[in-house]
Amino acid sequence: MTTTDPEVRDELRATVRRWVEREVLPIASDFEHADTYPADLVGQMQAMGLFGITIQEEFGGLGLDLMAYIAVVEELAAGWMSLSGIINTHTIAASLIMGQGTPAQQARWLPGLATGAPRGCLSLSEADAGSDTRNISCRARRDGDEYVISGTKTWVTNGERAGIVALAARTDEGITCFIVEKDPGPTFGGITVSKNIGKLGYKGIETVEMFYDDHRVGADCVLGGEEGLGHGLGFILSALEVGRINIASRAVGVARAAFEHAIRYAQERHTFGKPIAEHQSIQNKLADMGTKLQAARLLTEHAAALKQSGARADVEAGMAKLFASETAFELSTEALRIHGGVGYTTELPVERYFRDAPLMIIGEGTNEIQRLVIARGLLRRYAI
Ligand SMILES: Cc1cc2nc3c(=O)[nH]c(=O)nc-3n(C[C@H](O)[C@H](O)[C@H](O)COP(=O)(O)OP(=O)(O)OC[C@H]3O[C@@H](n4cnc5c(N)ncnc54)[C@H](O)[C@@H]3O)c2cc1C
Repeated sequence: MTTTDPEVRDELRATVRRWVEREVLPIASDFEHADTYPADLVGQMQAMGLFGITIQEEFGGLGLDLMAYIAVVEELAAGWMSLSGIINTHTIAASLIMGQGTPAQQARWLPGLATGAPRGCLSLSEADAGSDTRNISCRARRDGDEYVISGTKTWVTNGERAGIVALAARTDEGITCFIVEKDPGPTFGGITVSKNIGKLGYKGIETVEMFYDDHRVGADCVLGGEEGLGHGLGFILSALEVGRINIASRAVGVARAAFEHAIRYAQERHTFGKPIAEHQSIQNKLADMGTKLQAARLLTEHAAALKQSGARADVEAGMAKLFASETAFELSTEALRIHGGVGYTTELPVERYFRDAPLMIIGEGTNEIQRLVIARGLLRRYAI
């Protein structure tokens, strides 16, 4: 992946920010409360090329770097975090194909993914395999030129509307990643969306359970071809570094939105004859919020730049995800406090940030797991 000219990145960020202000902010909370899928907004995101930001130009993508990607993700999340979720597992699926797909697989799937038709999703987790990814039981049995997939996957964000599923299933060689084609909708071949999972926040987009009942795919759907057999978990864990950087930049977006609401309100709201921003305990909060927001952004940019350079970035992506998500959680809570009673109402988006923030602590590996990854990496680097 080549480095994008900073001017191009800034221009893209500004375009997306203007679009979010014009099209997203006026409707985000209403759509989120009603749990309504933002089909029109997704169409506009497609038209802007956002589903193909990191996909090479030869496949019809924008061919931009991860720094451009995180700028866009931050802007989307500052408007409505769910929009960045529609892009995230799509981009992970595309990254898997870009990084591990055979030339034939890249030519087959990347041009469509670059336009957002079809959109992609990632299906690793199962009921007994969330943090414990090696415990998956979904199985793919070879039958001539095909594989027969059976099992139940859960937590599949974008699963129903996706046309491409990057699926982890167990084969004789170990865990293998399949690229499963399907039509958007609740059923396709042997695949059934068996449950739409209700959520605290992160609404408007679906997170579903998917049941595979002897669903058949061609052997050419094994990511990486025959050589990819048994290497799927490694492929997915590496692509999840991009996912963690996405989560970190989403968290920066939510934290920024919470902070900006809070610092504006603190200057407007008066108590005891002066703006609450002049009370020292509110100033302490604003100072801590601004500092943590800046630190979260710098960690996220550092992780993206490292991953972009082709270096291993598990520790840095983990640090960015850990710190930025805890920051989003803390800043959304502090923004709620600073708003007093009105922060608790549905009149303002602050309560939405408060409900959206915990997802970033759990998704793409919980923060407890991030700490394990970070500690392992640090011990490797500082081994005596
Ligand atoms: C809204 C939402 C969307 C999601 N979208 C997707 C998706 O699109 N695709 C997908 O594949 N998955 C998705 N996930 C799944 C997500 O990645 C898992 O929920 C997450 O990895 C945690 O797994 P779990 O829920 O099984 O929790 P568990 O693994 O059961 O963890 C429970 C608790 O134990 C802790 N814990 C577990 N093991 C350890 C350990 N070794 N050391 C210390 N603490 C530990 C965890 O940190 C957590 O606090 C989504 C989840 C949510 C909530």
